[in-house]
Amino acid sequence: MTTHKAALALPEAREACGVFGIHGPGEDVSRLTYFGLFALQHRGQESAGIAVSDGRGIDVFREMGLVSQIFDEDALARLRGDLAIGHTRYSTMGSTTLANSQPMVAEWRGGKIALAHNGNLVNAMELRQELEEAGERLEATSDSEVMLRMVAREAGPAGGVEKAVAACMPRWLGAYSLTILTKDAVMAVRDPYGVRPLCIGRLNGKAHVFASESCALGVIGAEFVREVEPGELVVADKNGLRSHMVVNSPRHALCVFEYIYMARPDSQIGERLCYEARRGLGRQLADDCPAEAEVVIPVPATGWPAAIGYAERSGLPFGEGLIRNWYVPRTFIQPDQRLRELGVRVKLNPLKEALKGRRVVMVDDSIVRGTTKRGIVKMIREAGAKAVHVRISAPPYRWPCYYGVDTSNRSELIGARCSVEQIREAIGADSLGYQTVQGLLKGLGISRRKLCLACFTGRYPIPIPKDVKLSKLDLEERAWREGKGDAETETAGQ
Ligand code: SF4
Repeated sequence: MTTHKAALALPEAREACGVFGIHGPGEDVSRLTYFGLFALQHRGQESAGIAVSDGRGIDVFREMGLVSQIFDEDALARLRGDLAIGHTRYSTMGSTTLANSQPMVAEWRGGKIALAHNGNLVNAMELRQELEEAGERLEATSDSEVMLRMVAREAGPAGGVEKAVAACMPRWLGAYSLTILTKDAVMAVRDPYGVRPLCIGRLNGKAHVFASESCALGVIGAEFVREVEPGELVVADKNGLRSHMVVNSPRHALCVFEYIYMARPDSQIGERLCYEARRGLGRQLADDCPAEAEVVIPVPATGWPAAIGYAERSGLPFGEGLIRNWYVPRTFIQPDQRLRELGVRVKLNPLKEALKGRRVVMVDDSIVRGTTKRGIVKMIREAGAKAVHVRISAPPYRWPCYYGVDTSNRSELIGARCSVEQIREAIGADSLGYQTVQGLLKGLGISRRKLCLACFTGRYPIPIPKDVKLSKLDLEERAWREGKGDAETETAGQ
């Protein structure tokens, strides 16, 4: 069943995943993980899971759906222990199936290991082949399972999971922010480029917490301590916290889209609070792409801070021209043709009084495929706006992402196929202005050398193997060809 999926998704399918971990003897770790995952729900809505250790063994519960749908009091009560990790998933490698949900669990002779991953390995295919040639029977079709199985195989010879992770890190090429659970430790691991965020917090002075974003620390009352450094392995166990710098990085390459769109605005990522970063982008955009208009409106909710920044700098009033229904789930029945003709708008509805007779600047964070934007511009016009000037706080998205954002097919990117003028025409705007790459860096106030900008520039900081196709279903196709995979899968977020 694919026909009714995602057509109503307002953002154009750009989520990643969220990971969480806690070492907290005496704390209700499954409940704390539940709330941590709830705060990370925006990073993935396809599936979620929690793995817990009581010091003797690991229990895991994972399901398809939202965190609030999957876990109830009974499920949390069964997950008892002192250590836990959790995951919210949006598929960027491997399809939307329970087998690919996380945390994934494998065994070695010392017990079970659970792993939760945000990112994408670019050499997953090659590593999977090596595992299969060594006799491993893989059950899922994601790079995360490849990483987990590598650690489990290495744990015996290396003398434990901690050493096994350190031994595997130099072999993993790509983006990975991980939380890993053993029966007596929780680990946090970040790739040497630091593509995806991962931070450390402390709760009640003694429990150690790891999370993709600092918003997940706030929700459980933990304080932010620091980020996990690129190339670092951090271990929390009964002896406290210890760190190993495992792989030195030639450079850091945090995904700039974390600032533009992906992370929650109240998360501190690297040197900036995302809300302030977005507001700075709006100000810069107003300098570089002014417009003759009477009001600045955001596309809710991701365009909000940039629209506020644009209004501040341009001197134009900020207004709400679009009202969003917050309760539309990711999979939702589309209106049929008759309802569409009646103008049934499920996610956004225009506020006519704010738009009628006015020239409007509509600010959003990006245009990926372009389909949503056309509908929104039309809606604003039909509400009586005299002109619609679209301003985008990021540069044109021209290159696919191979590091954990689902846009890995270049033909889907309108910025790769069309000039800015053609895009303007396609979305039906009176004018269209994009941020430049220089404007982006100036607005963020962050050095180019610290960021991945590849989807705007085509310059990939982590080399992409030439002979690899790299779509999110590559491992699936391989498993299917070899008769080992689940061929009846469905793809979300397209
Ligand atoms: Fe982020 Fe784009 Fe780099 Fe992917 S290619 S990590 S979306 S900046």
